[in-house]
Amino acid sequence: MSDKLLLVSCCAPCSVGVIEDLKKKNIDFTVLFYNPNIRPENEYIHRLNENRRICELYGVPFVSLEYEPDVWQKATKGLENEPEKGKRCDICFYLRLKRAAEYAKTNGFTRISSVLGISRWKDFDQVCQAGKKVEQEVGVPYDNTNWRKEGRLERSEKLAKELKLYRQTYCGCKPKNKP
Ligand code: SF4
Repeated sequence: MSDKLLLVSCCAPCSVGVIEDLKKKNIDFTVLFYNPNIRPENEYIHRLNENRRICELYGVPFVSLEYEPDVWQKATKGLENEPEKGKRCDICFYLRLKRAAEYAKTNGFTRISSVLGISRWKDFDQVCQAGKKVEQEVGVPYDNTNWRKEGRLERSEKLAKELKLYRQTYCGCKPKNKP
């Protein structure tokens, strides 16, 4: 089976530099948007539309799965006061990557990867651990390439400005300082 990558994306500004890089390398890939962690719904729709916009711009297939905020809420119940990079993020990454791996398995992808750890605010190893757990459970290899490296993070930041991408001020779960 020829290589076919499913790239899990949280948003346009985190993925744009990676999308450009993979296109240049002629990798066969699709971007997947599965982010039940994003609140409120209008914020979710905005990020979804921006991610779709850049995929269209680069001519990359884009798939968005169902919006399931209740599933995320239930999975992270009791962890509302966890800080970023804490236990709630463990579950959040796992939940999103597991759904992605299941999609990959039934749709002919040979591996998955994600940009969930590309931001400086994220713990890259935490994302990889969730990916490897999913790999063992679902059987689809998780590619733990560090997408921050080789200038891709800086390139993403530059492209986000050039393309006037919407850049959110929080990760996804409802910030305590917002109604
Ligand atoms: S901070 Fe981001 S990764 Fe962590 S639980 Fe909230 S939405 Fe998920």
